[in-house]
Amino acid sequence: MTNAELISLSLRDAAAALRDGRTTSVTLCTAFLERIQAVEPKVRALLAVNPESVLAQAAASDARRAAGAPLGDFDGIPITLKDNICAKDEQCSCASKILKGFVSPYDSFVTGKLKAAGCVLLGRANMDEFAMGSSCENSAYQRTANPWDLDCVPGGSSGGSAASVAAFETVAALGSDTGGSIRQPAAFCGVVGLKPTYGRVSRNGLVAFASSLDQIGPLSRTVWDAAAILDLIAGHDEKDSTSLPQQPEGFAADLEAFEVNPRLDGVKIGLPKEYYELEGMDPAVKQIMNDSIEVFRSLGATFVDVSLPHTKYAMACYYIIATAEASANLARFDGIRYGYRSPNATDINSTYEKSRGEGFGNEVLRRIMLGTYVLSSGYYDAYYLRAQKVRTLLRRDFQEAYRLCDFLLTPVTPAPAFKFGAKTDPLQMYLSDVFTTALNLSGDCGISVPAALDPGTGLPVGIQLIAPAMEEKRIFRAGRAFELARARKEFIAPLCCRKGCKRETAGPQAASAFVLNRKEACGHEK
Ligand code: GLN
Repeated sequence: MTNAELISLSLRDAAAALRDGRTTSVTLCTAFLERIQAVEPKVRALLAVNPESVLAQAAASDARRAAGAPLGDFDGIPITLKDNICAKDEQCSCASKILKGFVSPYDSFVTGKLKAAGCVLLGRANMDEFAMGSSCENSAYQRTANPWDLDCVPGGSSGGSAASVAAFETVAALGSDTGGSIRQPAAFCGVVGLKPTYGRVSRNGLVAFASSLDQIGPLSRTVWDAAAILDLIAGHDEKDSTSLPQQPEGFAADLEAFEVNPRLDGVKIGLPKEYYELEGMDPAVKQIMNDSIEVFRSLGATFVDVSLPHTKYAMACYYIIATAEASANLARFDGIRYGYRSPNATDINSTYEKSRGEGFGNEVLRRIMLGTYVLSSGYYDAYYLRAQKVRTLLRRDFQEAYRLCDFLLTPVTPAPAFKFGAKTDPLQMYLSDVFTTALNLSGDCGISVPAALDPGTGLPVGIQLIAPAMEEKRIFRAGRAFELARARKEFIAPLCCRKGCKRETAGPQAASAFVLNRKEACGHEK
């Protein structure tokens, strides 16, 4: 297989190619390493890649296969990790200066699972500092570009994870989602992103932002791939007290059975009116939502209008609870135990003050101050306690809505990816999360699936499917049916290609050419 073919494989197809002997892990990983070298100067999705370690892991996988050892389905498959997920002996900076040079002494639960499955850890993905942001612009290290348009943000905070998948630098990635940080960048980059049910995936080894909201999940090329990765990383973990007891569900196997006749007859989809009435929603997103409704209708689903009456409080509630928890979680970065210590410190107080003041970026400082404020004795009842009560109401809204339908269909974001620097006002930036934060507050599961390209900008737009806790199967099936009903090739990012060029010619074949030699793919340069 050519490099171009290899890098555009889905997880499922890459696994099949390894199984059938059409490629090896070393060949596959080498193709990705070359791709990374070719496009990273432009995309800058990755904070660290260690080719030697990648090739050693790949060679070990090939040796296991050659020896006829019993192998998992994804042995030898490369995956990138958001830089807040610990992997033993690898950096874990959370894209913050305060953790510069920090090396994890242990594996997170999910990394342990990936290693046990024989996956190759390919690199550390850029992110907003401590996962606070919606554009990756809050990284202390570099600016990740959207592979669809290098002048636009990839979304955040898992923007490096999303961009690395969209730019064909990896087969798939893991990210974390506290208020939308997997779903939103997935939508901006035209890939699939899943926020699993709270407690489905252990948070052990994920650097905590807001512990009652954080969840690790996959970013991938297809819904099937996301399901297979969830199969790999889900499971009870006694080291995380919020981890749910659960049996393996075989999500990918379920989809394989479902694909024989991927119809949604008898399925009822709820349309929460508050999500469609938002002022300032981009007309293209509205149109794409309408078109997507028609796709689901053609698959046999029916629709019912539902209401989530407390939606208008979700953002405020999220920014109180998330900052409160963050202010407590980030207290451990004190300049003493690990990470950055200010050279200007003279005593214990100034060590704490200066190390934190110099080590954290502005957004993180803002959140710590907000969080400390809402938890302070004079304001606790007015803000934090009130927000907790609103959270219960929001959760009830969802439960009421689920009585009428199997899952909800909503936009992921009010508009496609925006330009760098377009949202300097923090409140404007926070509004990118209007459709995603409520789900973290409710603890249910949601998936972002590419729907169409905005005809104006050529940027991808996604749809969000939301289901009750532990009902990932429903949104996997619906997402898969939707994705099969649409041409997947539409979502091959024409990296660096001129706007408006014939993207439809960039099928998987051309896709390989596109990065390696963009001219061949589209006939012209930007
Ligand atoms: N963009 C949101 C925030 O800034 C969500 C972040 C996340 O999900 N990690 O808090």
